[in-house]
Amino acid sequence: MQTNNRIYLSPPHMSGKEQEYIAEAFRSNWIAPLGPLVNTFEKRLADYAGVKGAAAVSSGTAAIHLALRLAGVTKGDTVFCSSFTFVATANPILYEQAEPVFIDSEWETWNMSPDALERALQDAKRRGILPKAVIAVNLYGQSAKMDELLSLCDAYGVCLIEDAAESLGSVYKGRQSGTFGHFGIYSFNGNKIITTSGGGMLVSNDEASIEKARFLASQARDAAVHYQHSQIGYNYRLSNILAGVGISQLEVLEERVQARRKVFDRYKEALERFPGIRMMPELEGTASNRWLTALTLDNGVTPNDAIACLAEQNIEARPLWKPLHTQPLFSSSLFYPHSDQERVCENLFSRGICLPSGSNLSEADQNRVIAALVHLFESKGATSWTASMS
Ligand SMILES: *Cc1c(COP(=O)(O)O)cnc(C)c1O
Repeated sequence: MQTNNRIYLSPPHMSGKEQEYIAEAFRSNWIAPLGPLVNTFEKRLADYAGVKGAAAVSSGTAAIHLALRLAGVTKGDTVFCSSFTFVATANPILYEQAEPVFIDSEWETWNMSPDALERALQDAKRRGILPKAVIAVNLYGQSAKMDELLSLCDAYGVCLIEDAAESLGSVYKGRQSGTFGHFGIYSFNGNKIITTSGGGMLVSNDEASIEKARFLASQARDAAVHYQHSQIGYNYRLSNILAGVGISQLEVLEERVQARRKVFDRYKEALERFPGIRMMPELEGTASNRWLTALTLDNGVTPNDAIACLAEQNIEARPLWKPLHTQPLFSSSLFYPHSDQERVCENLFSRGICLPSGSNLSEADQNRVIAALVHLFESKGATSWTASMS
């Protein structure tokens, strides 16, 4: 008997109603990267988030790329970007042959440090090359310090793009995460809090820009009966079939947020009593969707020890995102640390892990994860205690 089933980090969790919407797409023969379900999905997501416009696209990465185009980013421009994130945040900067400059995190949210951003903006202004955009990420569901970041961007007249790929359903001071920047982006990749298998959304209160995004995302066809083009376009629209999946997933988003928060709370209760274990913080005035439970280890257990130990039990765990300024791809990019003494994201990366956090993680499976970690922490504790006695 196989009792040791694989526990994944963040598997898809279907509502059960997806097939009905898919059937509707087939019944109406809207099997295309446009259609009534795409329009409905956009409208419902915009209503949920509380923004005027939303454009459904094939991925979160495509949404970031469109946001950069709409912000006017072109070859040789500078774009400031969180360092502590997945590579998809910054790849679109390279698509436009622009220069990323990476900004460190701060301790309270693990997201973009307003101090580091301010220094970077001051330097850029002195040199007469302000960035065209700032991309701030809301990591693992936790909103960045949006008030501080926005007031800096406003003061310098720079467009803020909010990468909310991981924070759909999170709240910052009473408003939905992803709606603070001039543009926000969401992802519906298979591992996100809701999924269309692959997909994304660009949101903004600037409806003209959202209209322009739809135009760019469908090959930038000018208004003419013949096919006429005067700008570079993309084939980035979301399939009508997948929009059906998205509508159904959106209906259960609030439940998914509550389930992930509950997973986080159970880990917290079981693990934080061990010395050196610290859960990812939640900034006052914000509610994270707790997309992934993240924590730091200062108990002699390295992230790799913990990940290897869980892997032996057929459990998937991951280190925190490797800071982009330390990636070979970006070895020539500038980086602004939080302070002279602190490189916060490097520090977090060296100590942190993400645990299985699916909204469909059973209590029994979560107990398996906890038991493996407790065993590891206790054996380490015993070793260091023995060592200190001798
Ligand atoms: C998943 C993710 C993306 C990319 O979204 P895709 O839909 O996979 O293209 C971008 N940024 C962050 C922070 C993400 O986690």
